[in-house]
Amino acid sequence: MREPLPDPALVVLVGPSGSGKSTWARARYRTAEIVSSDDLRGIVGSGRHDLDASTDAFALLDLVVAGRVRRGLTTVVDTLGLDAARREGLLRLARAHRLPAVVVAFDTPPALCRRRNAARDRPVPAHVLSEQVRALVRTDERLDDEGWDLVLRVGAGDEDVPAPAPAPAAAPARRSPLEVVLELSRFPWGEHPAAWLTGIARAAEEAGFAGIALMDHLVQIPQVAPVWEPIPEPWVTLGLLAGLDTRLRLGTLVTPVTFRPAGITAKAVATLDTITDGRAFCGIGAGWWAREHAAFGLPFPPPAERLDLLETALETMRALWSPGTKAYDGRRTVLPETTCYPRPVHDVQVIVGGGGERRTLRIAARLADGCNVPVDTAQAKAAVLRRHCEEVGRDPDEVAVTVLDLPVVGRDRDDVWERVERLRGRTPAAAYARRHHAGTAGQHRERYERLAEAGVSTVFVALPGLTGPEQLLEWRAMLPRR
Ligand code: GDP
Ligand code: MG
Repeated sequence: MREPLPDPALVVLVGPSGSGKSTWARARYRTAEIVSSDDLRGIVGSGRHDLDASTDAFALLDLVVAGRVRRGLTTVVDTLGLDAARREGLLRLARAHRLPAVVVAFDTPPALCRRRNAARDRPVPAHVLSEQVRALVRTDERLDDEGWDLVLRVGAGDEDVPAPAPAPAAAPARRSPLEVVLELSRFPWGEHPAAWLTGIARAAEEAGFAGIALMDHLVQIPQVAPVWEPIPEPWVTLGLLAGLDTRLRLGTLVTPVTFRPAGITAKAVATLDTITDGRAFCGIGAGWWAREHAAFGLPFPPPAERLDLLETALETMRALWSPGTKAYDGRRTVLPETTCYPRPVHDVQVIVGGGGERRTLRIAARLADGCNVPVDTAQAKAAVLRRHCEEVGRDPDEVAVTVLDLPVVGRDRDDVWERVERLRGRTPAAAYARRHHAGTAGQHRERYERLAEAGVSTVFVALPGLTGPEQLLEWRAMLPRR
């Protein structure tokens, strides 16, 4: 496999008539992404071959290309591409809008171009085609010096060419050490909340998710949905999921230490772990949203104090879960006894949420089994975590790096884009697609493999448009069978 095509990008095709440019583009890009001079002649002129309409067609082409590139949208320029001045203008446009610029040259054998040309109902005159072939040779010599981010050369029937969208769905999932857990943040459960939750859990198990994590908020957060949407109390809800016959791991991502005294959370987690035969985990954090605390009459101390509370909570939970009932005298808390039954039946994974480099990751290094960081910062945060581990004398392999990912997954390039358009609200499409890594199942699978290579153990997947169980089944192709 050669270097993959960047996406989004400006892709400029170069090649004589019949060299296969339009066919290549159609196989890889959405119709709206391809701006073709022939098509535009058909719009401003009498038909695709109306050469008298060329000036108008190219004016329109420039307008469309400029509009798309300015919005950061992938654009394929399907023209002969043999005019150096036009190529330079396109390259400058891409640069101005920081879009990668790719040129694809079609050095299809001239005889094949001639044969294909002759078979068309409106062939290009033979001498014109010959001049195009000569122009390609001259052009090809200088493409590498023009400043493109990538120059691709495509021969006749070249199947080895990378596509921006690798084959979706059908490909069998490869085994991956990476664990993928479904993060539920939105609950569009209609008239039947329990049935909705049950259906989601069963579909998550069938699709191959390793577990379900629930967001813990008192008011739905505006980043996810309107504040009047339901957001259930997680430990009660996890109790319902615990009663189903699944192998899913169950927990929070993340529960704020400001909501419940740490001992109560320790009790809830221990109970969940007991009734699920060891499938509980606990994501825990310092809390961040003042509004929900005020609304529910809870204190919301400043950040430093909340991080102190986080440390206290982790110490308290550890103390209450350790064997025996002896007194605990720790760095941040003192307990006269640690009588907590039932105890968890296994070592419950405690994951600290947040990537604060000075304190949060330090706390994770000292007291947690993992820390959860934003997906695009995973590598950098993992390095900082490792440093903290070394400084506090903890084996870095004992502290997992997990990430929260909010992917948009579609069956194919068209479907991906329809979903982006549906979900993006007022965010520009290109920015939304980038933030949510919009792509096909195959693209996400490759991305997750790269995350695993970077040392990530678990991806918590929150699906921005999740409404019901059917959507989870689409993930079957992406997740390792369990
Ligand atoms: P363009 O003039 O460079 O845009 O060339 P087209 O993409 O329109 O292709 C010209 C003709 O060649 C069409 O009839 C295509 O079906 C055919 N063609 C293009 N690429 C391929 C290919 O890779 N394999 C085969 N078998 N035919 C192709
Ligand atoms: Mg064409």
